[in-house]
Amino acid sequence: DCIFCKIARGEIPTNKVFENEKVIAFKDLRPQAALHYLFIHKDHSKDLNDMMKINPTQASDILGAISSFTQKENLIKDGYRVVNNIGPHAGQTVFHTHFHVLAGEPLGHF
Ligand code: 5GP
Ligand code: ZN
Repeated sequence: DCIFCKIARGEIPTNKVFENEKVIAFKDLRPQAALHYLFIHKDHSKDLNDMMKINPTQASDILGAISSFTQKENLIKDGYRVVNNIGPHAGQTVFHTHFHVLAGEPLGHF
């Protein structure tokens, strides 16, 4: 009953922007920037630490997908931000590992 597993299996309709054998990316429901995408592995893990225990290759699959996508969409021209939230202080709300990609406008520096 994981919502991102359902999205990955196509059981919930979503605004898909990228897909390969292992990774899928879609638009965030509540965008925090002009462009806001979520990249997930099709195989479930709770968070990045859980993923590294299960199979660290999955992290590489996702970062590779982000690299391909951002080059294809020319987001590398003006730049973008990759964010991974883990746990309550970071505000993680969905417990299927995901990487946010924020782009399309200047982002606040931190
Ligand atoms: P987190 O806060 O866990 O790092 O990020 C979860 C993100 O998932 C949030 O930005 C939220 O807007 C997004 N989100 C939650 N449920 C859905 C959904 O059903 N569809 C889409 N496209 N995004 C979702
Ligand atoms: Zn899942």
